[in-house]
Amino acid sequence: MMMLRRMLSRSFLQNLNGRIVPKKKGSFRRKDFELSSSIVSATIMLSCGGYVAWSSNEDVPLIRFPLSINKSKLEYHPNNIIDSDDDDEEEDDDTTDVINWSGTHKVTIANKNYWEPESIEEVERIVKSCHERGQTVRPIGSSLSPNGIALNRDGMISMANVDKILKVDTKNRTITVEAGIPVRQVIEALRPYNLTLPNLASIAEQQIGGFTQIGAHGTGKMIAPVDHYVTKLKIVTPGKGTIELTKEKDGRLFELARVGLGCLGIVVEVTMECIPAHHLIEHTFVLTRKDAMSRKDRLLKEHKHTRFMWIPYTDTVIVVTNDPLNQIKQKKAQQDKPPYISDEEKKKPLTDLLTQLCVENGQESSVEDVKEMGFGELRDAVLAFDPLDVAHVKRCNKAEAQFWKKNEGYQIRPSDELLQFDCGGQQWVYEVCFQSGTQENNNNSDMSFMDDLLKKIEEKNIPAHSPIEQRWSSGSSSPMSPAAGTAESLYTWVGVINYLPSDDDQQRKDITLLFNTEYTDLVRHIGRPLKAVAHWAKLEEPTTVWKAVELKSLYLERFPITEFNIARGIYDPKNILSNPLLDLVLGKPIQPES
Ligand SMILES: Cc1cc2nc3c(=O)[nH]c(=O)nc-3n(C[C@H](O)[C@H](O)[C@H](O)COP(=O)(O)OP(=O)(O)OC[C@H]3O[C@@H](n4cnc5c(N)ncnc54)[C@H](O)[C@@H]3O)c2cc1C
Repeated sequence: MMMLRRMLSRSFLQNLNGRIVPKKKGSFRRKDFELSSSIVSATIMLSCGGYVAWSSNEDVPLIRFPLSINKSKLEYHPNNIIDSDDDDEEEDDDTTDVINWSGTHKVTIANKNYWEPESIEEVERIVKSCHERGQTVRPIGSSLSPNGIALNRDGMISMANVDKILKVDTKNRTITVEAGIPVRQVIEALRPYNLTLPNLASIAEQQIGGFTQIGAHGTGKMIAPVDHYVTKLKIVTPGKGTIELTKEKDGRLFELARVGLGCLGIVVEVTMECIPAHHLIEHTFVLTRKDAMSRKDRLLKEHKHTRFMWIPYTDTVIVVTNDPLNQIKQKKAQQDKPPYISDEEKKKPLTDLLTQLCVENGQESSVEDVKEMGFGELRDAVLAFDPLDVAHVKRCNKAEAQFWKKNEGYQIRPSDELLQFDCGGQQWVYEVCFQSGTQENNNNSDMSFMDDLLKKIEEKNIPAHSPIEQRWSSGSSSPMSPAAGTAESLYTWVGVINYLPSDDDQQRKDITLLFNTEYTDLVRHIGRPLKAVAHWAKLEEPTTVWKAVELKSLYLERFPITEFNIARGIYDPKNILSNPLLDLVLGKPIQPES
């Protein structure tokens, strides 16, 4: 078992190793906690979705998410914070490491330049003082963004403690919250009022500020990304102090600020539209590529939420649809219900493969440990043997396709539970968004893109992990959204992934290199004619000057960058809110007089 353990990702190891106690708090750290690492992992996975069966421990205190993973110490810390000089518990550290959820981006920041205000007044004082000194103060939410877009080693302000529910307006169906509150808590706060949010991402640990500033999306061809549902914002700006923006009063500025990427001010309050709480009926089934392509229009038309998961090197597309519950749908689900299969049987293609790989590689495996592993862990465990070997990846993907075949079926649960789903372990992810015609007339570029992408992956023998996820949304009225457009427009979002299934440094470097060059170059190349742009949370820094030039020219076509930079010039004239990635992609704020 030791060898197998060495190869697996730390989240799995932590499940096996028992309790982890985080180190003593530093001066600005909050809330002591002690928790079972298995619960941390379980909660992370459960928060992502419901396919994985995890044990739970009722005794564990409520913990605050997100939790960042300190790869060198295997310690979890709340609010993205990890002490860097953590060998000496008594030492009052000078710096802090801040890492994103995926473990792919990290900065070390001087503690004196990292703020965790507890109130809006405190945010105002910090921003004023930073503006006067020209001190960087980039807003950071839960740091879930795979590209670490919130990070800036020169200065950050964490909004985690500015997190109150301010008002639930049942008449107008809106909720007003402080921006640091996690989406999960907003959903819970709405529950007693029989309300919920119009759409969700696959995970709900984001703060409302980050969730909307980045323009997150779910799936549903007639549902816009989440920023579209923001009706009012209160922002603390360096240049003009605290301002309140609404569509009626501020028009275009309000729309620009909704997906402001943290560059126009620190969002302190957000008012969002809500919808009546409802249950959904979810149907998961498997199609061939040909069937998925030919049935796509009907599926999108007939179902409120539809997503596809394409499995490279197999003829398998997993389709997940979600619809409001009604008697006809419930009856159909009852009629079509597949025969009962135990969880153990469902996971068998992956557990069998793991056992087989252990035998082939001369490693011990414990039947009990393997049995207890969830789907995401199993996928990491099998991939970890050789994640860049195409023959091996094909084998893993084939087992995953078989897993999904056994997982066909229906489930009925509240919308806020079903719209989240398991997104796997540490990973590189790159997601692009492009228009695919209109609600009435899908021009099929969503399918031609997929067809081309899968063919080229397979021709070029790219070790593409599973799945390639495809979702849809309508246009967002925020001009800086990758899906900026009208309610009649139709956008598709396609995300490729390569997991980082082990702690082997060389392996992680090799995966990173392949992903950030050959694999994502291919996605960009196929997406270029469609003007596909990256999700703001998944845009990585270009690796060459030419790629930077290409990216800038595409972004000038797709976004009102000059207008946005003029707004930055007014509200953040000293450019203290940005970071190097955004300065590269957007350029600097344009000063009013220039
Ligand atoms: C497992 C996983 C699953 C995901 N699934 C989806 C998905 O289904 N759909 C999707 O669209 N995305 C998805 N994402 C991306 C994720 O939704 C976004 O990265 C997230 O919404 C950002 O929220 P955050 O609080 O973590 O913000 P951060 O990552 O900390 O910051 C994001 C941006 O918002 C800004 N910001 C944060 N707070 C404020 C504030 N108060 N004021 C001003 N600016 C602020 C930051 O400066 C930065 O530009 C997923 C990410 C992970 C890790």
